[in-house]
Amino acid sequence: MLRRTMAEFDIKAGLQHVLNQMELALQKRPKEINGPKPLLLAVSKTKPAECIIEAYNAGQRHFGENYVQELVEKSQHPDILAQCPEIKWHLIGHLQSNKINKVLKLPNLHMIQTVDSEKLANSLDAAWSKLQPEAKEPLRVLIQINTSQEDVKSGIDAEAAPSLYQYIRTNLKNLQAVGVMTIGAYGFDYSKGPNPDFISLMKVHSTICQANNLTGEEVAVSMGMSNDYDRAIEMGSTIVRVGTSIFGYRAAKA
Ligand SMILES: *Cc1c(COP(=O)(O)O)cnc(C)c1O
Repeated sequence: MLRRTMAEFDIKAGLQHVLNQMELALQKRPKEINGPKPLLLAVSKTKPAECIIEAYNAGQRHFGENYVQELVEKSQHPDILAQCPEIKWHLIGHLQSNKINKVLKLPNLHMIQTVDSEKLANSLDAAWSKLQPEAKEPLRVLIQINTSQEDVKSGIDAEAAPSLYQYIRTNLKNLQAVGVMTIGAYGFDYSKGPNPDFISLMKVHSTICQANNLTGEEVAVSMGMSNDYDRAIEMGSTIVRVGTSIFGYRAAKA
């Protein structure tokens, strides 16, 4: 069971602080990057239902989990179902094909941020029409790009990403290719200048926009976490994924 073990963390204050910092970062974003106001995704991994409900009551609606099992448990948690009717869940971790059916049946599933192959996209497309035949909207997906080229990270290569976007857009009518996402290398030293992972993702973003005749605002960019969401927004991020700064530190995984 997940329990709140550490000193109580003021989630409402954490949220307010992050939203304020996001606003300041947006004001610093150069005018040429005309993206929309960024969305805050509250990353609730390892945190119990009561923390999610607390954030929801403070106005937060979008939540992200990166382990399928946690997403399965929390999205169906009776208290969350009862008290958070407008919650929107994002999967931000790797999705194995044998878990697709499990995930696509979940209530209030909003977006899968980690599509990184045609094979996975095809399977999601088929599963969405089968499992959610009543769904009025296609399943929203982001293409996850391994901008740091680390073997341990999932994600498609930056050069191959635009054609995967194109593939989904033209062939898979049950999916909506909403944009791109990267995790990037951990612990980048910002005294060295702008984060190369963010530069790389913004390049892919602009290639996709040009190839499809879309404005920058029409293709979402998910980048930035607790330590760098402000810098990510200045560079064009439209979805920041923030856990620690909202919910406090996570206990190390056993
Ligand atoms: C955990 C996680 C985050 C949030 O990390 P924090 O540093 O706690 O803000 C963002 N994105 C992904 C994919 C994660 O797994």
